[in-house]
Amino acid sequence: AGDDVGGGKEERIFVSVRVRPLNERELERSDVSDWECINADTIIFKNSLPERSMFPTAYTFDRVFGCESTTRQVYEEGAKEVAVSVLSGINSSIFAYGQTSSGKTYTMNGITEYTVSDIYDYIQKHQEREFILKFSAMEIYNEAVRDLLSPDSAPLRLLDDPEKGTIVEKLTEETLRDQDHFRELLSFCEDQRQIGETSLNEMSSRSHQILRLAIESSAREVSGMGNLSTLAATVNFVDLAGSERASQALTAGTRLKEGCHINRSLLTLGTVIRKLSKGRNGHIPYRDSKLTRILQSSLGGNAKTAIICTMSPARTHIEQSRNTLLFASCAK
Ligand code: ADP
Ligand code: MG
Repeated sequence: AGDDVGGGKEERIFVSVRVRPLNERELERSDVSDWECINADTIIFKNSLPERSMFPTAYTFDRVFGCESTTRQVYEEGAKEVAVSVLSGINSSIFAYGQTSSGKTYTMNGITEYTVSDIYDYIQKHQEREFILKFSAMEIYNEAVRDLLSPDSAPLRLLDDPEKGTIVEKLTEETLRDQDHFRELLSFCEDQRQIGETSLNEMSSRSHQILRLAIESSAREVSGMGNLSTLAATVNFVDLAGSERASQALTAGTRLKEGCHINRSLLTLGTVIRKLSKGRNGHIPYRDSKLTRILQSSLGGNAKTAIICTMSPARTHIEQSRNTLLFASCAK
């Protein structure tokens, strides 16, 4: 409930960490793996370093997933409960946070696919209800919002609706026929993200992608109180810009300025999440960035949120991995 004091456990942000395996490049240069998941919720720095005393060596989260984990496991234990709550009429968001090449897209693509598959299973089993699924997809790049289902259109504007809150004006919403239709749209979006991009990696490291599924359901048999049984909610799958975009800015101590290469949306999301994790009281600066405005109704309040923080195990990425773990610690 919105007027809960202190916030029940179910209102917390579910935070997990996933360590990917060393990749070929890292193996070739004989990079060492520094991190080990010692049980279901604790990750430790397992090697010794001269400056080791400078930072904590053990970190505890809701769940940690080691390099042998599967995306299915990450989904089941780190995202599913939050994602499928959309079927009970609860808005939700799943985020992938981490430095570029740490596994955000790899993890989030799997989670999205498994969620949609579970949603269709549920629909199959609940023939007594009628479901309408609408899919939309956006990309935020330099604080401009692009419609991935209508990529040639002008950047989208955000409007404030007195009832619905922030809405993305003219955002394409495709009503899904079935799961294959969803997959088609997904691969269309992926193609769009790449067109005209000389440096895809540079682009994807700076942009946020939001895939959004709005689900409405109602009882087929209209009883006297039929309207009461209508449920509507949205689930967002958010593949964030590389977290190095936030930490570089913080390290430099630079102030946010229009037009510079600091990622305003990523920084604001960090602030919003830190404030939410401390108990949802006081002013939460949703309005400071496009990303947090778009997601406001799916973050905080009665919404459910899960964050999967991805990291490389390699020594060469130790600074970024520590930043990611610090972010994850603030979010829990
Ligand atoms: P990011 O989106 O964070 O930049 P990617 O998801 O694109 O990173 O991952 C970078 C590379 O590492 C990709 O080739 C991806 O397939 C691979 N990868 C990421 N996570 C894993 C994992 N857990 N297991 C195996 N390969 C992975
Ligand atoms: Mg990516």
